[in-house]
Amino acid sequence: MDLGQKLRNALAKLTGKPYVDENDVRALIKDLQRTLITGDVNVKLVLQLSKRIEERALKAKKLEALSLKEHVLKVVYDELVHLMGGNHTPRLGKHKVLVVGLFGSGKTTSISKIAHYYKSRGLSVGVIGADVERPAAQEQLEQLAAQVHAKFYATPGEKNAANVVRDALKKAREDIVIVDSAGRSALDDVLAQELKEIHTAFQPDETYLVVSADIGQVAGRQAEAFHAITPLSGVIITKMDGSGKGGGAVSAVAATGAKTAFLGMGEKPGDLEIYNAEKFVGRLLGVPDIAGLLEKVKAIAEEEQLPPADMEQLTIESFYQQLKAAKKLGPLGNVFGMMGATNIPKEMVQQSEDKLKKFEAMINSMTATEKKDASLLRKTASRIARIAEGSGTREQEVREFLSQFEKMEKMFKMFKRNRGFRSQMQKMLQGGMGNLKIG
Ligand code: GDP
Ligand code: MG
Repeated sequence: MDLGQKLRNALAKLTGKPYVDENDVRALIKDLQRTLITGDVNVKLVLQLSKRIEERALKAKKLEALSLKEHVLKVVYDELVHLMGGNHTPRLGKHKVLVVGLFGSGKTTSISKIAHYYKSRGLSVGVIGADVERPAAQEQLEQLAAQVHAKFYATPGEKNAANVVRDALKKAREDIVIVDSAGRSALDDVLAQELKEIHTAFQPDETYLVVSADIGQVAGRQAEAFHAITPLSGVIITKMDGSGKGGGAVSAVAATGAKTAFLGMGEKPGDLEIYNAEKFVGRLLGVPDIAGLLEKVKAIAEEEQLPPADMEQLTIESFYQQLKAAKKLGPLGNVFGMMGATNIPKEMVQQSEDKLKKFEAMINSMTATEKKDASLLRKTASRIARIAEGSGTREQEVREFLSQFEKMEKMFKMFKRNRGFRSQMQKMLQGGMGNLKIG
């Protein structure tokens, strides 16, 4: 059973319960510890993680609208993402890539995958066969290069890897040039020396270490050892498709401060994934649940950005108060501009004193219910007639007022969705404009 399956089982015990209490959370943490340690995640990291989960799940403030179950799930997700490091964004445009790693880790295969990745983005790719240890290694790279339509460079018979690189660099004009280096069963002095020479000759923009997922937390030690010889820009973890220790390798790499850049998910050129911690953990935990939960958390966070309840609604009365107040403050357009509404209708900005007086008269002829619900007026012609008569205005003018109010309502709804609106409103109200109120 792989790590993901075990994690999902552990979480299922929690999510399957109608109600979750503190004991359930503690049981989950125990389960997670066992699962991660058998998945070859470093014990120290696991203890740190469980301590943080316990603190956040049981002691930290939870969002009101989340159940404890959802809260715990979100905390576990966040902390796992934290454990598994950040995200990688592959460099685009012209650059040179050096690939290093021990024998059989998946260097040559990974190069074909990276070549395929860049080819499919319309960039030209050249690969240099600098694994001079085994003749078969050159052939393998040549075949894989042909498969993905990358140019292959090698110097048959040349026993010095740095010389092969220098030769190839004289000819290679591709956007992306990748060097395949030799590996050994261990990082010994001979390999270290060879890699340093290649590094000097090639001057790579990116250096990737390739490790196989099945070495688990040893990946961290390898990342440190190789980094000391050729500074690494990232680690490629291969054979993620076949190992239960992938999580161990990824977390160990993250713990050293190195970045996981790509995941190898199979032997074919297309089996490459750009590393993204959220996606990786989401998959481990079972995407559907987590995706839905994250949506909910996002929605709650957005709701909390909205204006408070007393600003939820724009009424005819408050619209009028606002017009009056704004009139005193100067050009209406400026005030609205400060609130983030720049495209306020011109005709509304240029209300004359006369018109304002008429509006006031109309509003005074409205019932309390009508002031709260303008749709009543729009629906009923007799109400419009009554207001026109009561205020000494024409029905056409009442309709005009209602249509302006309607525009304002629409804009108000737009404002409410605007995150900055609330803080701008607050600033305005604090800045001596207390008489300008919405809703
Ligand atoms: P190198 O010695 O580091 O160049 O390793 P190779 O690229 O020759 O790969 C060694 C073996 O691992 C080959 O049989 C590859 O097909 C296999 N391999 C490499 N990457 C993956 C992967 O992501 N998944 C699987 N299942 N096999 C892989
Ligand atoms: Mg190889």
